[in-house]
Amino acid sequence: MSVYDTILSDKNLVKLFEHLIKKGKDVLVPEFDPKEGTTYPDVVEACNVKQNEVLEIINKLVALGLGNFEYHDQILRCPYCGAEHLKIYFYCPFCNSLQIYKEILMEHIRDGVIGPISKFKKSDGTLVCPSCGTKLTVEGKDYRTIGIWYRCLSCYRQFDIPKINYQCRICKKEMTPHGLMITSISKVIIKKEVLEEFANKHFVIKPLMDDIKNELLNIGFTISSPGVLIGKSGIAHQFSIVAVDSTGRNIVIDLITSKGKVGEGEILSSFLKNADVNPYKAIVIAIPGLTEGARKLATTYGINVVSGENPSEIMSQLKPLIPKSEKLSG
Ligand SMILES: [Zn+2]
Ligand SMILES: [Zn+2]
Ligand SMILES: [Zn+2]
Repeated sequence: MSVYDTILSDKNLVKLFEHLIKKGKDVLVPEFDPKEGTTYPDVVEACNVKQNEVLEIINKLVALGLGNFEYHDQILRCPYCGAEHLKIYFYCPFCNSLQIYKEILMEHIRDGVIGPISKFKKSDGTLVCPSCGTKLTVEGKDYRTIGIWYRCLSCYRQFDIPKINYQCRICKKEMTPHGLMITSISKVIIKKEVLEEFANKHFVIKPLMDDIKNELLNIGFTISSPGVLIGKSGIAHQFSIVAVDSTGRNIVIDLITSKGKVGEGEILSSFLKNADVNPYKAIVIAIPGLTEGARKLATTYGINVVSGENPSEIMSQLKPLIPKSEKLSG
């Protein structure tokens, strides 16, 4: 199965790839959402799905080989329920009170006077040395921060480092930092060749095939796509489209795409198929174009070749080549 067919088999993947091409993106970057936790906003936007489906789509995409995971960020989770919604508490190491007060310790550099910032700060926000009354403006020159300490408002004891505890906002259980679960979240790098193939098939080839089929149907042909015809040799040959009118006249159309230009090999194999099947008319559509040698070969073999980079360019060359259906003209 081609990459394009793989994507087509899941409507969410189609929506996601359409979105990526439209936005010119090739990476799915996870972001924290206060309600859902870490999610992939591009998947949410493109597919309009719930959180559990977002992760399903991401995992499927990687499992199918359309992209690769790459480490993005650390996520701390509740060890009991797995939620990443954690609340952090600072509390008194002596009496476990949560009512603690943080103080910044400052020094007036010139005279070495040290005190909590509250002793330096005036009501208008300016800093003034409580000892000598000098106004302190430049940090590092007039004053510096020499430490931070905490005071418990329950037992009034003073300490440098508060005890830290976490509470899960979902299951409400508490845990120490050592109890936390450390996990990671990945971004997804979409393979370049996958994006290219999707863009080409979905936005060039599929609309073109639809245009051609509609054109043939409108003028009275019956079509099969892909179509198979048995040659004189007994071998079954497959064509992109086989169209037949009511009198049995058939047109075979082969759509050949190439990264660069379609070469002589493809024209030769088309000629061999046509020689075996002997259709009323054979047309080769070469996207994005043909090499000089391939074009000469096509002329020599009497193969009608149409080439171009977009559906409208190709359709304008193709229409004059399609014979009037007997049913309509006759
Ligand atoms: Zn929990
Ligand atoms: Zn205390
Ligand atoms: Zn001073």
